[in-house]
Amino acid sequence: MIVKMIGTGAILATRFSASALIDDKILIDVPNGAMKQIRRLGNKPENIDVVLLTHFHGDHYFDMPFLLFEQGLIRKREAPLHVVAPRGESYKIKDLFLRGYEEETYEKLAQNTMLNIIEIDRDEEIELEGYKIKAVKVEHTDSLKTLGYIIRKDGKSFGYTGDARLCDGIIAILNKTEKTVMDVSFIQKHDMHVGLEEAEELGAKYKEKCEIIATHMCDDVRSQEVKYIKIADDGDVFEV
Ligand SMILES: [Zn+2]
Ligand SMILES: [Zn+2]
Repeated sequence: MIVKMIGTGAILATRFSASALIDDKILIDVPNGAMKQIRRLGNKPENIDVVLLTHFHGDHYFDMPFLLFEQGLIRKREAPLHVVAPRGESYKIKDLFLRGYEEETYEKLAQNTMLNIIEIDRDEEIELEGYKIKAVKVEHTDSLKTLGYIIRKDGKSFGYTGDARLCDGIIAILNKTEKTVMDVSFIQKHDMHVGLEEAEELGAKYKEKCEIIATHMCDDVRSQEVKYIKIADDGDVFEV
């Protein structure tokens, strides 16, 4: 799998909001500005076949309307656009669209994209486009369901934590993957996000097993010296 970091920033940061593109066709999270950033990085939003949403905070799904425009306004898909989202929350995709545009536009784009919304929950695994995708429950806020994902293909496994404090779900992802992109928003530990000090400790512990790649960072995290994890930047590409 080839992973391209579309955005690596927290909400208040110079980098784009966190998302990643696998093999040019699986997009993990669709934050504010993601479609334009995908174009700027030389990729094509119309090539995306699968979307994995970790949770419904705006910096993870506010470009969903524009993904539908990219894929359904001037073209029709010949196979479904799969959008995987935490169970019970996916109604927010249409809700958001209707804040900005008309219902008939949504219906047209949903039809043209063959939009297939799949709700998923902890420990459920699905197979899409030859990839095995497993949802892992992580702890982020008390009221919002948040999932990390493990994506497997050809014997390789890649993890993405979503937004989460250090929790069992993150450990489960690290134990089952060779590379994991992890929310490292702040330098200090935090009750909604992993801190850099915690990430470095995990990096030391897992250094033989799983490489940790930091994303969703505030700018001050980026300028820190690190030894055991990788600080990703927008546009970075790595292979799993
Ligand atoms: Zn969040
Ligand atoms: Zn976030």
